[in-house]
Amino acid sequence: QTQELSQVKIDYHAALQALMEDGTRMACTGTMHTERICRFESLCYSTNIDEFVFFHSNASILLPNLGSRRFQPALLDLSSAEDHSAQYFNFVELTIDALQFMPKPVFVPDVALIMNRFNPDNLMHVFHDDLLPIYYTMQLFPDLDQESRLVFMEGWNEGPHFDLYKLFSNKQPLLKDHLKGLGKLLCFTKSYVGLSKMTTWYQYGFIQPQRPKANLLISGNEIRQFTNFLVEKLNVTTDSSSEEYIVVFSRTINRLILNEAELILGLAQEFQMKTIVVTLDDHSFSDLVRLIRGASMLISMHGAQLVMALFLPPGAVVVELFPYAINPEHYTPYKTLASLPGMDLQYVAWRNTKEVNTVTHPNRPWEQGGIAHLAQSQQERIKKSKEVPRHLCCRNPEWLFRAYQDTIVDISSVISAIHQTVGSKLPLKKIMSSSLIYPGKVRDSKCHPPDQVTNVGKLSISWEVPWNLKYLKVKEVKYEVWIQERGENTYMPYILPYQNYTFMENIKPFTAYMVWIRCIINENLLGPFAEVLTCNT
Ligand code: UDP
Repeated sequence: QTQELSQVKIDYHAALQALMEDGTRMACTGTMHTERICRFESLCYSTNIDEFVFFHSNASILLPNLGSRRFQPALLDLSSAEDHSAQYFNFVELTIDALQFMPKPVFVPDVALIMNRFNPDNLMHVFHDDLLPIYYTMQLFPDLDQESRLVFMEGWNEGPHFDLYKLFSNKQPLLKDHLKGLGKLLCFTKSYVGLSKMTTWYQYGFIQPQRPKANLLISGNEIRQFTNFLVEKLNVTTDSSSEEYIVVFSRTINRLILNEAELILGLAQEFQMKTIVVTLDDHSFSDLVRLIRGASMLISMHGAQLVMALFLPPGAVVVELFPYAINPEHYTPYKTLASLPGMDLQYVAWRNTKEVNTVTHPNRPWEQGGIAHLAQSQQERIKKSKEVPRHLCCRNPEWLFRAYQDTIVDISSVISAIHQTVGSKLPLKKIMSSSLIYPGKVRDSKCHPPDQVTNVGKLSISWEVPWNLKYLKVKEVKYEVWIQERGENTYMPYILPYQNYTFMENIKPFTAYMVWIRCIINENLLGPFAEVLTCNT
């Protein structure tokens, strides 16, 4: 398979000269392999030995120069999955003299982003592990623009969602398989290797059972900048009608809703809204985006298709249905997504608690949840169990058995679960999206000396509002004040709606106090503490 690389004209002689004189140059961000992204000039790749090659010359740069720590365990993660041993990146080293004995290099002129897709068959993985990280890695490095080239090294074929990967650049992404067709020794003139993990919110359970990542660094704003980009690239039209509707995202192969028609009727009646069914097979991606962008509620069985909640408008409701014996609290990729600050989605989990309403498939192949290959005693234990215990990814037979059940959904219990979260207020969509703008420091804080010297302890303090507050529309402003007697190690905290206050409780006369003050807006947006104020009573 030949690929068109010649859109950017390259002076072959000059490129070869640069490689021979400067060798490979690398400079990276990040102190750990899990945080590292590297920029290279003249990074080469041998297609027949399947290794990246770093050529040392007098002018080459290798930063960080880790010595053999580069192999403990690797230079960096090539996918956004954290420290996954199948996703490590490294290179072999050569001196530039060796080039004369090697195949003639073929230069890739575009700025390349070299990475691994994690699981291109699964829509959740496509968005969470690849597309969002690609988008924000490109934001980090300005020369990764529309003219740059994505290079996928994981070795898979295009996969069912390749069109989505194509939206990030005007150039066709290269697969590992394509590289062979280009030459024996490829040299990427300029490249970035690795993906930012800043936008990922979930870990899939390779080392610890699956759960949200510990420090989430992404908010709804960044998600919606990303979805807006896709909406534009996909030419999705916006529905101008203000009619509210519910989308049921259906699966057709497994984990089915067996009484779907009844569910749709029940929802339409209860919420007095049109209810439409979509599937990944029957709708183009643009249609799915258009429909979900206008929806008031998205309902689906647990599964990758629920990542489409990314496209829901603020205020919408996400309802995730879990098959029998699965605890929704143990599988929260979509709950975490819906709950990101600024996503402004309302999340509802419903779980089938009635064994009579589940249909199991013990005789299917193991990867579709079959358990016939297991010992009889183990099969019995699994069938009797009322809840799948926490487990690691990805082949736990009890989990797969339960995850691939079909369900007769108890409609009144789903509806009451929805009402428990969203109340009965309609329309659902009209929810004010809350701002995530934080107050600055309070200004001009002062201690006021007592008007007369007495033996009663009093501490009068005043301060001015944070500078940015006068430009913000805020519902509620409060101040948190911490008072600590000098030399003591405990403090008294207060929450006050004022800008000045005289503290008397537990205040001693002739004593030095340290005072910290911060502003809190709308109950949960905590500003920074101002510099400590020292007051003598
Ligand atoms: N899928 C689908 N319909 C089905 C079963 C799967 O559209 O009946 C899609 C699913 O959304 C995902 C991919 O096929 O993108 C793989 O599904 P799998 O069940 O392996 O993963 P899960 O949905 O549990 O993450």
